[in-house]
Amino acid sequence: MKAAVVPSVNGRWEVKEWQTPKAGPNQVVIKIHASGLCYTDVHITHGALPTQFPRVLGHEPVGEIVEIGPGVASRKIGDRVGVGWVQRGCGRCEWCLRGKKELCQNAISTGITLQGSHAEYMLAYADATMLIPGNLSYEQATPIFCAGYTVWSGLRLADPKPHERIAVVGIGGLGHLALQYSKASGFETIAVTKSKDKEKSIRAMGADEVVESGEKLLAAGGTDVLLATSNSWAATAEAAKGMRPDGRIILMGVSQEPLNYTPELMFKRARLLGSSQNGPEYLYEALDIVAKGKVKVIEEVYKLDEITRAYDRVAEGKVRYRAVITMN
Ligand SMILES: [Zn+2]
Ligand SMILES: [Zn+2]
Repeated sequence: MKAAVVPSVNGRWEVKEWQTPKAGPNQVVIKIHASGLCYTDVHITHGALPTQFPRVLGHEPVGEIVEIGPGVASRKIGDRVGVGWVQRGCGRCEWCLRGKKELCQNAISTGITLQGSHAEYMLAYADATMLIPGNLSYEQATPIFCAGYTVWSGLRLADPKPHERIAVVGIGGLGHLALQYSKASGFETIAVTKSKDKEKSIRAMGADEVVESGEKLLAAGGTDVLLATSNSWAATAEAAKGMRPDGRIILMGVSQEPLNYTPELMFKRARLLGSSQNGPEYLYEALDIVAKGKVKVIEEVYKLDEITRAYDRVAEGKVRYRAVITMN
């Protein structure tokens, strides 16, 4: 099969022949139809996560099951499925025993410890696959398996109450979905961005306000929840100036910078919460909302052969708002 292979840390991605996977016990082989390109693929390429190279990345797999391994009972050939980041925990640690495999330190992960989805075929554990709603296209479904899942999990963790306000800082791959999920849930939603040129499309996504700073956010009434999807924690800390008392800041972007916040947050009794993907029920919900047409992923679509160009655009922050690779 053809796959996009990262040869080494900081290596140049290349599309080449790679061994087609075969389903072992409890596994399925998925013919990949679409595979989202997440900024985390850039972090992994730069060696930020414990990955062995050469490696095929990609952790937003969607496609059709073409092979079933021994012992698989709940999936069949032809099922339309996607796979999340964490496929399995170790099964033995405290968090696995508590049923929270997403917190396992030795998790088996798509595109990290296992071959990823930037390829024509991908192996997955059958119980890690999620059925995709029938009316949802592969192109719309793929970014939900990381970006959509992440922001919906964060919104659920923030536990917003009726009449509360939600702000999103960092209106990119994650942020444009966070904004729409918030609106789909009926909350007044404010976008915090310095990208003036994005304002028109952000308003078209349903934002009630677009402001350029935390101070402007506060002047506009502040926010009870700040969904921080930016890869800059300096931008997150700045936007946090707009918090209302008892507010919650949900950290979802990955940054190497320290997070500097002011004592003001203490006096406002603000809470800072880390969040990634908090359980399969949120993946189910995130897909369902998109299938109902309440959230639309805005994406640039590339063929597998064009993945190097797509990767460069993601790495340079040029993609608005999500890059998706299709295999056909
Ligand atoms: Zn991701
Ligand atoms: Zn474990």
